[in-house]
Amino acid sequence: APGRPALIVHGGVWDIPDGERVAHRHGVAIALGHGRRILERGGSALVAAEAAVVALEAHPAFDAGRGSVLDRDGQPQLDAGMMCGATLLWGAVAGVRSLDHPVRAARLLLDDEAARAAGVEPYGARLLVGEGAERFAAEAGLPHVAPEHLVVERERERFERLVADPDFHPSRAIAGSRPPDAPRGTVGAVALDADGHLAVAISTGGTPCARPGRVGDSPLVGSGFYADGMAALCATGWGEAIATVQLCTRAALRIEAGEGPAEAAEAALRHMRDGVRWPGTAPASGGLIALRADGTAGWAFTTPRMARGGWAAGSEPWVEV
Ligand code: ASP
Repeated sequence: APGRPALIVHGGVWDIPDGERVAHRHGVAIALGHGRRILERGGSALVAAEAAVVALEAHPAFDAGRGSVLDRDGQPQLDAGMMCGATLLWGAVAGVRSLDHPVRAARLLLDDEAARAAGVEPYGARLLVGEGAERFAAEAGLPHVAPEHLVVERERERFERLVADPDFHPSRAIAGSRPPDAPRGTVGAVALDADGHLAVAISTGGTPCARPGRVGDSPLVGSGFYADGMAALCATGWGEAIATVQLCTRAALRIEAGEGPAEAAEAALRHMRDGVRWPGTAPASGGLIALRADGTAGWAFTTPRMARGGWAAGSEPWVEV
């Protein structure tokens, strides 16, 4: 039954250093404000989730859009995705370097009407990678930015530090036994609108010092994001492990079977930790946010911290880092 609009956003899971917590709080609060205003005006979950993620991409605190971590060539490498729970349509881009808001390209791949309005004829592709994704975005009039525009001083310095560290190896960054300052600040939003429809949006710069061409879970439907008539979910953490267990679908099926969103998120993360035991890797950790069609929200994480926040019509927003 149509009801109370709600929104949950996250700004990644990792051992967020004390010095970066204020910025994470700030960014999460701004994103909630953008999404909330759309839902309060009767806007759709799709538009609200996209707007929240656009705000998180624009905020330099997070590993998404401007502020993303750099790959081993010192370049940004971005992935994003969106899904509409009412239609099961989704769109995603992977490995783009010249878009400051890759989630907008994901939206246009999901939404034929929006694509036509932007001047591109949709043809049913859901996931585009690299140069092809950038060309699609350019045809739709999304701004092309120089990759350096996405690089902030903090990440340039982190990159220099990591490549100079004889103990650092990129495979360890991917595997989760990374040095404590290696961030996982993927961003995401799940939204429920007044019509009872759910949507999810996600955006990431991936993992630090990754091999060029590496793609994690974030642009993979069912792994990094998923939404249907029952629930919307968004994951963050060790992408290779998340994709292996298809974390979001796994939690969605538990919600469909009657579990609460928090319980389902916890169980799915436990399954990932217990199930993915690859030689030489740390325990598979991550985080999930979930929103059920009845407005019940939940989240769970198996890392020291998770930046997150939420809002529901008729109550005040909250933020925790
Ligand atoms: N899951 C993302 C990836 O592996 C990273 C993150 O969540 O921060 O690309």
